Amino acid sequence: MRQSELFTTTRREAPTDEVARNAQLLIRAGYIHKEMAGVYSLLPLGLRVMEKIISIIREEMNAIGGQEVALSALQDKAVWQKSGRWSDDVVDVWFKTMLKSGTELGLGFTHEEPLTSLMVEYIHSYRDLPRAVYQFQTKFRNETRAKSGIMRGREFVMKDLYSFSRDNAEHEKFYERAKQAYTRVFNRVGLGERTYITYASGGTFSKYSHEFQTLCAAGEDTIYVCDTCHSAVNDEIIDECMHTCPQCGSRDLRTETAVEVGNIFNLGTKFSDVFGLQYLDERGVAQPVVMGSYGIGPGRVLGTIVETLSDERGIVWPKSVAPFAAHLVALTGKGTDAVMVREATDTLYENLRQRDIAVLYDDRDVQAGEKFADADLIGIPLRIVVSAKTLAQKKIEVSTRSGGEKKMIDEKEIHTLF
Ligand code: ATP
Ligand code: MG
Repeated sequence: MRQSELFTTTRREAPTDEVARNAQLLIRAGYIHKEMAGVYSLLPLGLRVMEKIISIIREEMNAIGGQEVALSALQDKAVWQKSGRWSDDVVDVWFKTMLKSGTELGLGFTHEEPLTSLMVEYIHSYRDLPRAVYQFQTKFRNETRAKSGIMRGREFVMKDLYSFSRDNAEHEKFYERAKQAYTRVFNRVGLGERTYITYASGGTFSKYSHEFQTLCAAGEDTIYVCDTCHSAVNDEIIDECMHTCPQCGSRDLRTETAVEVGNIFNLGTKFSDVFGLQYLDERGVAQPVVMGSYGIGPGRVLGTIVETLSDERGIVWPKSVAPFAAHLVALTGKGTDAVMVREATDTLYENLRQRDIAVLYDDRDVQAGEKFADADLIGIPLRIVVSAKTLAQKKIEVSTRSGGEKKMIDEKEIHTLF
């Protein structure tokens, strides 16, 4: 894409009402637009990153047998009354609205109830199990504090997967596979090293649930990290487990600030019981379905990447989620060289496009300093510079956003960069 055609522009100053670094940088670089506190729109660059994150998650959910759906945001009060979660005393994040007739509706903040209710129509026999169903869907939550930028939105996309199993043993098997799939997701988006599988309270149906917590100064959670086995425990259970790592028994836990980027949970038969989600086993006996829920916030992941990997000049995207593979910068300068540089860069841009390499081409008529400052802010991992100087050597200059040497390479070698 030609930067001269991109409708967004960068800004030097962050909006004064925005305290979160992730939102400040994303707004300044033109990734997102703030509509109001806790509500952000994705702009072309932001949508590209979000789609990268979503496709990584989708691949991993498909790999464990997930079937993708898209459930409605508008929610039927009657369905939620069955579980008791329609009540504002039980759930304090509901956004509710009303039909013209006066009938109340809710805007979904999660989807256990509607999906369990839906699956009653499709799960009848042991042959219909196990199943895993997931979606990327907009949730609405009336969060009290929305000061963490896109890490805590009042409207945000969640990947929520729900598993349906015959019994605890089958559930456990899927739960482990989901845990591994989550580990792969966070590795692939570049947060692997800082992300800990964290023991959290398990509710009625299991001793523990697991959160995926990423070390991040802007996080809202406190976790206790075990360096012996690279796991952690959260605030809820640190006293319960008597400051001992539930995984390896180490007593050497250190306190850290983190953000919950995902979680996995054994729901047992809580929702199946409410909605009568049962199946007939091999002997024809009705049994309740055992469920699990598995959430990731792609927007929170995006925000966490910005919080943890940016530097004083701007964002530093990992390759896997960057909006473009390369930022091609033409330093046209003034005078006779300008035409030559422009033509050479245009040709290079076309060549890269032919190879299906996603490139942001800074073809704007602005000073070199401004181009570099913008490229630093936008954070594309690889930079390719063409100038009169590089052309004189019949080379192009390449460098990475994360630092390291500038290199002059032959244009013919360009494919080695991707
Ligand atoms: P938190 O304790 O941070 O509020 P939660 O326990 O409410 O999180 P879940 O309801 O389990 O979170 O949601 C699943 C995932 O959705 C979370 O792990 C997180 O990645 C994401 N998420 C939750 N709330 C938000 C939000 N307000 N904005 C963006 N992402 C969110
Ligand atoms: Mg919450």
